[in-house]
Amino acid sequence: MSIKARSKVWNYFDIPEDDQFVAVCNVCKSHISRCGVGKKSSTSSLLKHLKFKHTEEYRKIQEQRQGEISENFKPNQRLITNFIKKTKTWDITDARSIEMHKAIAEMIALDNQPYTLVTDRG
Ligand SMILES: [Zn+2]
Repeated sequence: MSIKARSKVWNYFDIPEDDQFVAVCNVCKSHISRCGVGKKSSTSSLLKHLKFKHTEEYRKIQEQRQGEISENFKPNQRLITNFIKKTKTWDITDARSIEMHKAIAEMIALDNQPYTLVTDRG
């Protein structure tokens, strides 16, 4: 995969043959640092340049990205935020948490179980 295929930002920049550390803006011909070469380089400085200097081009990139996201999104695919919500443990003040604590305390008291019961695997 070429660099150009990876990021939409490359529609607006070229890398000069004599200096791989910079990218040249196709709009204003400014030289922008790529903060490295190859895999170490980053497009964030290029994106930032578009964001502040060429708002119209930046808006186009954002629109294309949004289009790709909705194209790739399948309705049955769960959103990562939903997944995070599900794996998050209950807060100690959560009603469900309080209810569980009460139930466990009741079980320990009624069945005369040791407190270490809560550290058991089950
Ligand atoms: Zn520019």
